[in-house]
Amino acid sequence: STPFLSIRDLKVHFSTEDGVVKAVDGLSFDLAKGRTLGIVGESGSGKSVTNLAVLGLHDPEHTALDGEILLDGKELLTATERELERLRGNKMSMIFQDALASLSPYHTIGTQIGETYRKHTGASRREARARAVDMLRRVGIPTPDLRVDDYPHQFSGGMRQRAMIAMALVCDPELLIADEPTTALDVTVQAQIMDLLKALQQEFGTAIVFITHDLGVIADIADDVLVMYGGRSVEQGSKKEVLRDPQHPYTLGLLGSMPSLDGPVDVPLSPIPGSPPSLLNPPSGCRFHPRCAFMEKVDGGRCTSVQPVLEVADGRGTACHLDPGQRRELFADFATAR
Ligand code: SF4
Ligand code: MG
Repeated sequence: STPFLSIRDLKVHFSTEDGVVKAVDGLSFDLAKGRTLGIVGESGSGKSVTNLAVLGLHDPEHTALDGEILLDGKELLTATERELERLRGNKMSMIFQDALASLSPYHTIGTQIGETYRKHTGASRREARARAVDMLRRVGIPTPDLRVDDYPHQFSGGMRQRAMIAMALVCDPELLIADEPTTALDVTVQAQIMDLLKALQQEFGTAIVFITHDLGVIADIADDVLVMYGGRSVEQGSKKEVLRDPQHPYTLGLLGSMPSLDGPVDVPLSPIPGSPPSLLNPPSGCRFHPRCAFMEKVDGGRCTSVQPVLEVADGRGTACHLDPGQRRELFADFATAR
């Protein structure tokens, strides 16, 4: 089937006083309806930037975009602000870590959810209010007909997160971008929110991009996984393939602390010695080479001189110069340790 969201060779470059920051530098992926893509990586790897570009929420004055972002066949990079405005909240929407950043303190929860609905559907105030109550019920807010007139500060953190999800889903968007939406919540509420997103995806058939640095979350919710490093994808595949049989040394490192797929919900990335690359002056060749334990295994110093290309076949691929035989041998200890 044709993917609902298709990104090809996306580049997001910022101009700063110090030079051009290549925040995203050649990223490609596909996402079908009803599926969840988990994007994982350290902070500064380009995860959030990618998704702001999809939504057209980057700062146009300092940002240069290149490549293709096709949403249901429509090119978003060349869309006008008006077209994007129509798509946001309607066909695609977003939830963040901080619900207070997307909810206004001055209006009731019900007004805010209702106004989003009215803007895209032309519904009456009455219909919009009924819809807001219905959405609050669906995201598990008790007595929604009473809570609909509350202000955000009257909600707990977990309830605000639910209200934000209700607002994001009020127009049945076909694409939901979730950027660390559960990071600030305690583990119990986090698990409830994840279950809620899964249930809503079943009901609405939403395609979800889930950005996280938490491998437990990936194991829980993702169908497919994309691992980002230094503004590029270093590995892609189904959740099982990537978590059980990682092909890239960086993914292997991230998984170091993860005991199994069925582990606890809260699994931080394993710290890898060294720090993320500068995106102002990225390392030559493979951007991971200053931190890679396997660099010497590759002949001819290619790791420091040639940027590995991500070759994706059937959704599976990695960007690393190691050949499959080497990888099997070198990664074997890791596999038995798990
Ligand atoms: Fe390591 Fe070389 Fe593979 Fe990069 S290309 S991940 S430096 S082995
Ligand atoms: Mg982020």
